[in-house]
Amino acid sequence: MKVLLIQSPMGRREAPVFPLGPAFISAHLKARGHTVSGVDLSLQANPVPALLRKLKETEPDVAAVSLRNIDDSGWPVTWSYMDAFGMVMEALREFPGTLVVGGTGFSIYASVILERWPWIRFGISGEGDAVFPSLLERIEAGVPPAERLLNSPLADVETLLNPDYTVFPLSDYPGRGSIGVQSRRGCPFGCRYCTYGRLGGRSFRTRPVEEVLEDVRTLEKLGARSFMFVDSVFDHPRDYAEELVRAIGASGIGMEWGAWLSESVSRDFLRLLRACGCGWVDFSPDAVTRRGMRLLGKPPGGRCLFSVVRDARRAGLAVGVNFFNGNPGEGFPALMLKFAFMASARLLLGFRRTFVNIGAIRIYPGSPLAMDLPPGTDLMEPVFMAPRGLSAVVHRLFAALRRRRHR
Ligand code: SF4
Repeated sequence: MKVLLIQSPMGRREAPVFPLGPAFISAHLKARGHTVSGVDLSLQANPVPALLRKLKETEPDVAAVSLRNIDDSGWPVTWSYMDAFGMVMEALREFPGTLVVGGTGFSIYASVILERWPWIRFGISGEGDAVFPSLLERIEAGVPPAERLLNSPLADVETLLNPDYTVFPLSDYPGRGSIGVQSRRGCPFGCRYCTYGRLGGRSFRTRPVEEVLEDVRTLEKLGARSFMFVDSVFDHPRDYAEELVRAIGASGIGMEWGAWLSESVSRDFLRLLRACGCGWVDFSPDAVTRRGMRLLGKPPGGRCLFSVVRDARRAGLAVGVNFFNGNPGEGFPALMLKFAFMASARLLLGFRRTFVNIGAIRIYPGSPLAMDLPPGTDLMEPVFMAPRGLSAVVHRLFAALRRRRHR
């Protein structure tokens, strides 16, 4: 069959992010003999004409749209991606083949989306690597599933094929870390705002190191200059992380890369990362106080945040730190501590290589925090654990200044 993989547009210009999920799907479809092409509408100024052109050019039997997120989770100003997705759905209303929708954003809101756009023939919730090829087999055999929503089990990462990094041109993603590599899926930590465990499972499923290295080598051959590990927490499980980093170091690849780390990462591991080509790391402590971290369900064992960031900077890594404001147990004094951390880290550890972001928690269905909301709360609309009072006033001012600066 001919399949067109479509990355849903954002409705505005944003830093391009390589569609990694569709690239995994592409590999599994090509392995079964299907002809696959891709179009990333998030890169297009006029997504609908671009889509229509691609449909005419490729004449697919199946159009598969990936919806990564439904909004940007920004507070106090939230940008919804659903209008742009809706435009694509309208453009595909009369599509004569089979319309399939999947992706993380779809998986979280599957029933609502299927109800709103009843001409979507199938929705795939969860990891579609195995389910998508089986669906095409059934369509080809003339016995398509009766149900519209297909709930996909977690993929066996041991047998997962390497993503097809050719289905979208890599040259469209030149930014540092715009291209993702996935070495593991799932997360055992269960932070209270996070949907990762629900979507990817509550344990790490690690891909064989040699397979991950193969991805990295492929990227280098295709001309990528950098990549980012999109894994939930790169420094866990410890033995696997160390084996993988040493293998990357020994491979001689010249690309710079980045990863998300926990605050329990050791000084030695930070040095090893740098020695093996890692250029930047991100932390997401989210809260600044021990109580705040505990109330958010953050993993235990984190070291003093300033020491971890200092160790990373001393190892030669650029560092990003992400906080939330308005989270449980943290009010205005905690916000001041976050600003103090931002000022001291940037001034003492390198203004241009240390970045601190302060957001607010967007509550998504399926996260433990969503259970505390009144039944029937519509989470398609942005619902935040938003700061209140003085904390909100200062945060709004800070966000407005940042927006002005980055305009
Ligand atoms: S926030 Fe990160 S560490 Fe916490 S559960 Fe989600 S992926 Fe895991």
